[in-house]
Amino acid sequence: MLNILNLIDEAKCYEMVRNLRWPSGVRCAHCDHFWVKKRGFHSSSKHRQRYICKACDKQFDDLTNTIFAGHHQPLRVWMLCLYLMGLNLSNRQIAAELGLNKDDVQQMTTQLRSGIVEKKKKSP
Ligand SMILES: [Zn+2]
Repeated sequence: MLNILNLIDEAKCYEMVRNLRWPSGVRCAHCDHFWVKKRGFHSSSKHRQRYICKACDKQFDDLTNTIFAGHHQPLRVWMLCLYLMGLNLSNRQIAAELGLNKDDVQQMTTQLRSGIVEKKKKSP
């Protein structure tokens, strides 16, 4: 059987995340500065770009502060989920398509709808 997940390119998924979170260019995940330099790739994923901020001197990568960081699902599962949501599929249909549990999909779609970058818990 053809599995749609095998057709998805991991590199393109990271590109999509970058375009979604930084539509006008990479900005620091910590201080929001645009003075950022690339710094190789993540050890566990060769497409996950790492950066260093020249303003605050902190490191981050494509997934820092996003809902995808520290999640069990690979990025392409999330991107496909987002794509299928755009086609107006129900959580149950998405679950069937991706071979996931409906409750997991429910949680994912809820998170995706509230935005991929996590709200900062900053005190005023
Ligand atoms: Zn910074």
